[in-house]
Amino acid sequence: MMPAAMPGVPAANALDSLPTADFFGFESLLSERERLKLQELREFLAVEIAPFATEWWNNAEFPAHLLPKLAALELSAPAQRGYSHLFAGLVIAEITRVDTSIATFFLVHHDLFVESLYGFGSDEQKARLLDDAANLRTTGAFALTEPDHGSDVAGGMETRARRVSGSTGAADGGGDVWILNGAKRWIGNGTFCDYMLVWARDEADGAIRGFIVDAALPGVSRSRIENKIALRTVQNADIVFRDVRVAEADRFAGIGSFEDTNELLRGSRIMVAWQAVGQQLAAFDVARQHAVERQQFGRPLAKFQLIQQQLVTMLGNAVASMGMMVRIAQLQQEGKADMAQVALAKSYTSARMRETVAMGRSILGGNGIVSDFRMAKIFADAEAIYTYEGSFEINTLIVGRAVTGVSAIV
Ligand SMILES: Cc1cc2nc3c(=O)[nH]c(=O)nc-3n(C[C@H](O)[C@H](O)[C@H](O)COP(=O)(O)OP(=O)(O)OC[C@H]3O[C@@H](n4cnc5c(N)ncnc54)[C@H](O)[C@@H]3O)c2cc1C
Repeated sequence: MMPAAMPGVPAANALDSLPTADFFGFESLLSERERLKLQELREFLAVEIAPFATEWWNNAEFPAHLLPKLAALELSAPAQRGYSHLFAGLVIAEITRVDTSIATFFLVHHDLFVESLYGFGSDEQKARLLDDAANLRTTGAFALTEPDHGSDVAGGMETRARRVSGSTGAADGGGDVWILNGAKRWIGNGTFCDYMLVWARDEADGAIRGFIVDAALPGVSRSRIENKIALRTVQNADIVFRDVRVAEADRFAGIGSFEDTNELLRGSRIMVAWQAVGQQLAAFDVARQHAVERQQFGRPLAKFQLIQQQLVTMLGNAVASMGMMVRIAQLQQEGKADMAQVALAKSYTSARMRETVAMGRSILGGNGIVSDFRMAKIFADAEAIYTYEGSFEINTLIVGRAVTGVSAIV
């Protein structure tokens, strides 16, 4: 289904009879319940997001009023609700197809924050935090990257946690507390979230530990990263922690080292690869519509062979990426998707995405650099997907290491 027309873009009804960008019909692999839910999501996106997404993006404002409506879709923690991994991936692709920023909000909150609670939270933490988080009455962020450590954050992490016994601070309940000091950068939802999962190095033994930090705690300061050219609707923050006192009860007891986060990061990396699929579906939707409706030399752009070739290359890239992700979803379902396979999926789909959105932008000509026509936004947002959740290069080198036995990362 095409998203609703954006300002300056003709209505899509002329295209309704043409095949969708899911050219091989991967969606048919879903159950009937999942297909209906996906359709419900599409209708929601067309009404609640598509008409406004460019304005939010231009103004770099997050539509907080959407949260109860997003919660009402009941899409958080899909596995707990009996949905397949394929469904979860297609949900992210479909949201991305309409607006990458909202998809990023969704996956930071649900796939990183909520899934961390499920995966690593104690029974007490789950009882205290999960219901509100899953229903978006509270929002979460995932604070791993630092100003001086992005790709090398696992080894280079500078944020420190020091355990202090028998604290008397009222805010931490008087028991053992951890004192956090350091800085994080790029943290999605970071300006407004209620909680953030903060990763820090234990001063005692050097191990990486995870903490659920209430954003209102004294010593937490956050500032919005301004002037982004991608994901402008997502509120990314620089966050500083100065002697922040976090109760032992807010530490993830299930995290003993950075390796313990691998399963979580594998899951969110898969979702980002699905974003690369959604980004290509969006680019194809917009470029095809433009090619069919825009006239030059007295005929539609679509009548020119070079335009058709680009559209078909875009479609091929999208379908190949989707096919790869469908197989990843099957492997997940069997509990078998390993990090090298996931890294190949992220690296491959994001490389194809870059080619796809560049062709789409070209097909729109000058209008392709104006966000009103959607493609400029799709083109720019692709750059964030290319870089986050392990950059293209890092994921490529993870695969290179797996297939040669030799690491070229360091
Ligand atoms: C929009 C956006 C949202 C984000 N959201 C979050 C979030 O919510 N939480 C969070 O914790 N982080 C977040 N990030 C951070 C993201 O994960 C990092 O940007 C990413 O890991 C890359 O780190 P870096 O930007 O510091 O780049 P660097 O690590 O400085 O890398 C710069 C370049 O060098 C390349 N490079 C680095 N090392 C090597 C190597 N060994 N071999 C070859 N090339 C190399 C990289 O691929 C890249 O091209 C976000 C980033 C963006 C842009």
